[in-house]
Amino acid sequence: MIPAKFAYRRAATVDEALALLAEHGDDAKLIAGGHSLLPLMKLRFAAPEVVVDIAPLTELKFVRLDGDEVVIGALSRYHDLQRDPVLAQHAPLLAHAAGTVGDPQVRHRGTIGGSLAHADAAADLPAVVLATGGTLVARGPSGERRIPAREFFLGPFTTPLEPDELLTEIRLPSRAGLGWAFEKFTRRAIDWAIVGVAVTGHAVGLINMGGTPLRATATERALAAGTPAAEAALLAAEDTAPPDEPHATPDYRRHLARVLTARALARAEAS
Ligand SMILES: Cc1cc2nc3c(=O)[nH]c(=O)nc-3n(C[C@H](O)[C@H](O)[C@H](O)COP(=O)(O)OP(=O)(O)OC[C@H]3O[C@@H](n4cnc5c(N)ncnc54)[C@H](O)[C@@H]3O)c2cc1C
Repeated sequence: MIPAKFAYRRAATVDEALALLAEHGDDAKLIAGGHSLLPLMKLRFAAPEVVVDIAPLTELKFVRLDGDEVVIGALSRYHDLQRDPVLAQHAPLLAHAAGTVGDPQVRHRGTIGGSLAHADAAADLPAVVLATGGTLVARGPSGERRIPAREFFLGPFTTPLEPDELLTEIRLPSRAGLGWAFEKFTRRAIDWAIVGVAVTGHAVGLINMGGTPLRATATERALAAGTPAAEAALLAAEDTAPPDEPHATPDYRRHLARVLTARALARAEAS
């Protein structure tokens, strides 16, 4: 399919991108890696009149340590995250999960900011950022605001970002030395997760178990109360609403969530 006609504008700085968003309002859409937006445009689920290309914003491509937080520029690509030495030490769960996204082409183009802003419950990094207790930084015409990840994923493909706002940074508390594990169950190696589980310490994030990325709160509470991991994992599907699809029923997904959580907790404890 061919997208509807649109105007292409290229932003060289964050200020320029914000000015273009302010100028065109609801008619404009940012494009970063394009690996979610372009398929939507080709299917005509999205038809922005103006596409603002932020891929050239090198000022948002970085990973650095700020006290006990890791700060990641929103335009950082999966491929860079996978190999970053700061992440390897302070957020190894995120670095590892970035390396499991799609295929090499997707990882060389897709960005962490694009993945979070797109807010697909089947995506990998939103659940990782949620489990890590991250904060998202957005910039708009009235300045900067910080949104905790637990308040960011409002519903399927829905976030509190305004049309004139740009995600600039993701801030994660350092998890250096903490046990972690990532389990992604797919039909083929490069597929999206049918179900995924991200564990860091006693925090458990769930992929594709509802309309948004979720925390397995019943499991987390049980772990905090001293319940053995294998027993706590049996609660992983509590309060979830997994999607019903021809290749994976909700019951099958609940089963996967329990099994993958048990595996991830065991691996995290051993790491
Ligand atoms: C074949 C294929 C396989 C894939 N497999 C996986 C997978 O296994 N796991 C997975 O998690 N994902 C997968 N993806 C999705 C991929 O990770 C996308 O790259 C990602 O979801 C979006 O990032 P992007 O930079 O391409 O965003 P874009 O497509 O450019 O943008 C997506 C949305 O985010 C908005 N946006 C982008 N950047 C910002 C910003 N800085 N501030 C505010 N809004 C912004 C855009 O306006 C748009 O609405 C796959 C995609 C493809 C095509």
